[in-house]
Amino acid sequence: MNFVLHGSSIGSGITIGHAHLVSSARLDVAHYEIPAQAVQAEIFRFDAGIARAKHELALLAQQIPADAPAEFGAFVNLHRMILEDSSLSHAPRELIRERKCNAEWALVQQMETLVEQFEQAEDAYLRERKADIEQVVERVLKALMGGKAPAEPQPSEEHNLIVVAHDLSPADMLLFKRHEFGGFVTDAGGVTSHTAILARSLDIPALVGLHHARGMIREGELLIVDGIQGVLVVDPDPLVLAEYQQRQSQHQQERKKLRRLKSTPAATLEGTAVELFANIELPQDLEQVHEAGAQGVGLFRTEFLFMNRKDLPGEEEQFEAYREVAKALRGKPVVIRTLDVGADKGLSGHGEPMPNPALGLRAIRFCLAEPHMFLEQLRAILRASHHGSVRILLPMVAHAHEVDQALGLIRQARRQLEDRGEPYDRDIQVGGMIEIPAAALSLPMFMKRLDFLSLGTNDLIQYTLAIDRTDDAVAHLYDPLHPAVLHLVAHVIQSATRGGVPVAVCGEMAGDLSLTRLLLGFGLRNFSMHPAQLPAIKERVLGTSLAAVQPLAQKVLRWGDPAKTRELLAKLNA
Ligand code: PEP
Ligand code: MG
Repeated sequence: MNFVLHGSSIGSGITIGHAHLVSSARLDVAHYEIPAQAVQAEIFRFDAGIARAKHELALLAQQIPADAPAEFGAFVNLHRMILEDSSLSHAPRELIRERKCNAEWALVQQMETLVEQFEQAEDAYLRERKADIEQVVERVLKALMGGKAPAEPQPSEEHNLIVVAHDLSPADMLLFKRHEFGGFVTDAGGVTSHTAILARSLDIPALVGLHHARGMIREGELLIVDGIQGVLVVDPDPLVLAEYQQRQSQHQQERKKLRRLKSTPAATLEGTAVELFANIELPQDLEQVHEAGAQGVGLFRTEFLFMNRKDLPGEEEQFEAYREVAKALRGKPVVIRTLDVGADKGLSGHGEPMPNPALGLRAIRFCLAEPHMFLEQLRAILRASHHGSVRILLPMVAHAHEVDQALGLIRQARRQLEDRGEPYDRDIQVGGMIEIPAAALSLPMFMKRLDFLSLGTNDLIQYTLAIDRTDDAVAHLYDPLHPAVLHLVAHVIQSATRGGVPVAVCGEMAGDLSLTRLLLGFGLRNFSMHPAQLPAIKERVLGTSLAAVQPLAQKVLRWGDPAKTRELLAKLNA
């Protein structure tokens, strides 16, 4: 039967394939009475189910691929925390005891109580967290029934399969990372659900919030997922199928066309050059940088070299990594950011837990407190500068004395290399990240001391709006279009440009296609982003008239009103 369902799109593009149904254990839960003498054994069975689910999640946490988006780990951890909570791991024991019911039934009853509480929450984000509880419960149910973890995928012809599920847990999404499904659709989930956040990073067509798809679709049925319009077509007739095949190939052509822009210089319609750089975490990311045709690396987040290990990389190991990047870029610049640890990026076994890590000893503060470690990194970067075009970037500066101290340590590292007779680039440039509102508002003292600036909008938003980047409960308040954020961003771009100090944006705002013209209108000419985002941003730059966008961008600043900002942004992007 041919029909259409509407949902919210969370992954772009169109995919055509056959339905692969993922079953929901919750639908099959039996309810039966337990004889009084068997109650204790039932409680043991319940505990064993919880223990098995915990074990599965612990294994998943260990198996997270190194290249998996950071969110995967966070979500697996959230599910582990839910499982640890006594409202889920202990309350059902009481129900088994009081009502003499089977473990599965007790668990589902308790889940329903919890879900109801979450549904009543005013906050949309919290309401969506009920899906996480359901996913954890499904895992325990499967464990109780002796089954495998939910949504274990079939390995055959994956690119032709579209997963159809009531909901998908982040752990299921981990499996997606290892497989190559064509797309997925779910009944549950909103655009801010964990599944949605993860799906975006996987870049496959996907729809959530279809409500009844799981019950209406049969295994193997032909499906079209239209991630552009948010539509699912089930069992399409030949005419509709032919139309979508054409649209799909058009979309693929557009992607290919974007790849052809690889060596086209990025410039606006007036011919103003715009520099597009890539952000990397490890030297292995360089392949993507080359593929994207980036003009260099605008942000090398070196802290990833220091993570997931007991020891820390010494000068030699760091030097090898930085040299590899500098050499591979063959003269194109690489901006190496000094260690930005602390907050959510802790070093194993290093330092005491902080009462408020985002406001604690992180980034440059940490480095200045550990001068021996900092000098080691500075020597490694300086040595690499002999093998390519290397710049140093200091993260999270807020005080002039931090920059002065860091520059003093750079001078000390240079002297140490000179004493050793080791070569380095004597004209190496040193820049600072503007990611604390205090720095944005006292720009002259940084412009005076530094060769260039880079706007870290991720942290700038975190600190301007007082929301912890890592805290799910306030994620919905993370708003790049907040008037205060836009004012700070525009102020930094315009003041630095007027003062002749090169300025870039290297936070997520740089790779957000909807913001490209606004940033160009503010005067930004240097963007650094994830390499996969670069071709589309370049296309947007090529189709932008500065004369048209500048007055609109100024209007956004003048109005300072969210509704008007959205209206003007729509005009900018028309
Ligand atoms: C930023 O804060 O915008 C940034 C680029 O740095 P990170 O995301 O690594 O904190
Ligand atoms: Mg930052």
